Amino acid sequence: MGNLNDQEDRLVRTFAYPSAEAEAFLAKKGLDDQDVAARVQEVIERVRTEGVPALFAYTERFDGARITEENFRVSAEAIAEAYQQVDPEVLAALRRAAENIRRFHEKQMRPSWLEPEADGTILGQLIRPLERVGIYVPGGLASYPSSVLMNAIPAKVAGVPQIVMATPPGKDGSINPYTLVAAAEAGVDEIYRMGGAQAVAALAHGVGLPAVDKITGPGNIYVTLAKKQVYGTVDIDMLAGPSEILVIADENASSDYVAADFLSQVEHDVRAAAVLVTPSAALATAVKKAILEQMSRLPRREIMEQALRDNGAIIIVDSLLTACEVANRFAPEHLEVLTDEPFQWLGSLQQAGAIFLGPYSPEPVGDYYAGPNHVLPTGGTARFYSPLNIDTFMKKTSVIAYSRARFVQAAPDILALAQTEGLDAHAHAIALRLSPTEKGSQP
Ligand code: NAD
Repeated sequence: MGNLNDQEDRLVRTFAYPSAEAEAFLAKKGLDDQDVAARVQEVIERVRTEGVPALFAYTERFDGARITEENFRVSAEAIAEAYQQVDPEVLAALRRAAENIRRFHEKQMRPSWLEPEADGTILGQLIRPLERVGIYVPGGLASYPSSVLMNAIPAKVAGVPQIVMATPPGKDGSINPYTLVAAAEAGVDEIYRMGGAQAVAALAHGVGLPAVDKITGPGNIYVTLAKKQVYGTVDIDMLAGPSEILVIADENASSDYVAADFLSQVEHDVRAAAVLVTPSAALATAVKKAILEQMSRLPRREIMEQALRDNGAIIIVDSLLTACEVANRFAPEHLEVLTDEPFQWLGSLQQAGAIFLGPYSPEPVGDYYAGPNHVLPTGGTARFYSPLNIDTFMKKTSVIAYSRARFVQAAPDILALAQTEGLDAHAHAIALRLSPTEKGSQP
């Protein structure tokens, strides 16, 4: 058996930046797995073509639960029973979290607008909720009542009339009572016992229930790659896969805090990632010790160890500004800044799902409670996706009402553009209206 240093080094690799190892680590994309993508494709195809029997067969195979037409949809009685099972104090905490989430998302609401102009022209944008949305709530390795709130509350604030929830059942077909209570509190309309790629396929293709317009929510790699594959049949929110944290810390940061925040991510999934970027070699050494020490006292040790070994790293940089460069390249889901003056770096941090500043904003504050959404892009997709938000559940429609005066003024430009494109019928539709003798022309 090796000494403690060996154990630490085997568990979390340390690289200098820049270096070939650091480049290889930064180039790795967590959601790029062709084997899983192929398996997911088969699941989606079978559910699409074979329908409910394939859906239930996959639930039995992957979740070990026998689901029938009778218990596929969660009944009002099951929800009432869940209320009997939950601890009232936890329910009260859930309600306070829900209130914070509601208040934060209400601030994101933007009104539709119609703007009349002096010549009578009216231009505008209608912002309206989607009709029917499927929210995915993970339930494989852990239960996620918090993800119910994070999906359903913004959908409700946006005004979505039909919120459908899918979550995998336990082996006995049951769903965690806190998940059910959270759904009732948040105003979910329908709940189905199904998870994984098969649930995503059922929501998208309308298997066992009417199809939805959009699927939102986090999940493991099967769920996330399934969402990617049904995009186009339905819309999706983003690729919110296995969790990630990147911590920027200086020599004054608490190694215990950094270690604890690492472990709070990697307990989710063997594919979760945790990265420390620091100019301090002393902090790096202390964090590795603290990880081993804290991990020995926590459950889920096997998951944490594998995730750290596969996707954990400490990257030593020459300055905090370089740390920001590394963070931008990684584009993490969660970014913590544990430095003396964390706000100083905010302007340099462009690519992250959510940024947590200072020692009292560890990631669980955002996961559960503060109000901003915890459904966040992973695998480097924070470069172009935003956190789940009100707009996720909205769509926009443009409104154009030209007055005759504006039309006559704009017609030469429009004719020129239509003729340049060689679209004579477009030009004709304009020219026709310029002639005062044409039927339908208005004064
Ligand atoms: P899950 O519901 O996402 O996945 C469970 C399902 O995966 C099962 O129902 C099963 O159908 C499917 N599955 C598992 N193994 C399979 C296999 N070998 N073949 C085919 N299908 C298989 O729950 P989970 O596994 O606990 O994962 C939750 C995930 O959500 C974690 O990765 C966590 O990090 C992530 N998460 C992400 C965010 C975010 O915003 N990015 C937020 C919360 C959680």
